[in-house]
Amino acid sequence: MIELRTPAEIEQMRPAGRFVAETLATLKDETRVGTNLLAIDRRAHELIRRAGAESCYIDYHPSFGASPFGKVICTSINDAVLHGLPHDYALRDGDLVTLDFAVAIDGWVADSAVSFVVGTPRDEDLKLIDTTERALDAAIAVATVGNRIGDISAAIAAVAHGERLSINTDFGGHGVGRVMHGDPHVPNDGRPGRGFPLKPGLVIAIEPWFLQTTDELVTDPDGWTLRSVDGSRGAHSEHTIAITEDGPVVLTDRSHLS
Ligand code: MG
Repeated sequence: MIELRTPAEIEQMRPAGRFVAETLATLKDETRVGTNLLAIDRRAHELIRRAGAESCYIDYHPSFGASPFGKVICTSINDAVLHGLPHDYALRDGDLVTLDFAVAIDGWVADSAVSFVVGTPRDEDLKLIDTTERALDAAIAVATVGNRIGDISAAIAAVAHGERLSINTDFGGHGVGRVMHGDPHVPNDGRPGRGFPLKPGLVIAIEPWFLQTTDELVTDPDGWTLRSVDGSRGAHSEHTIAITEDGPVVLTDRSHLS
């Protein structure tokens, strides 16, 4: 079921959005060559406790998960791109890091992800990250009343295809509200003018993610981490946005923080 939020409810969602934005900015700033993924999770946990927020991940146990996630942040490194389970690994020079983070504050969820490189970057990694960010920007630009979900999907796909990337539509964006994953599904590929109409009060996570040379994923033995089948690297960019009469509001905007 697709739920629409009142302007007052969208205001109530802002603290969660702000906290997710600030936390990702902080963690990105503090993460460097040598940082252990478990330390990133511990730091995120500390920030959650301090803010009185509630992790959406720690008890998350969908049908495909072997057990509850048990951590508060996804850390996907290099050829891992989604749902990376933090483990005992110290980042190396040139690693491509994706942090994906969702919490609830006062019962309202926000969800956002960012990719970056620690140490010396490879050009192709920076280009992939830039492509996911441009796809997200293009998608947000068309997240306006009167358009449809398909317009968002098509905007993402146009950026990907411009870089000759293929798209996996098994995982994509989603409605956000009292729970992390609601309707509608927001695929990373689709046809303009199709799908659910974008109405004021619709709150969704938009999350383009791409792999360099494949669109196929394999799951790690940990039951969570999804990585490319061919070892090529992945990047992921996500914001939670509210569609309003005045245009899209990026609830997890970090642009003023770094
Ligand atoms: Mg997310």
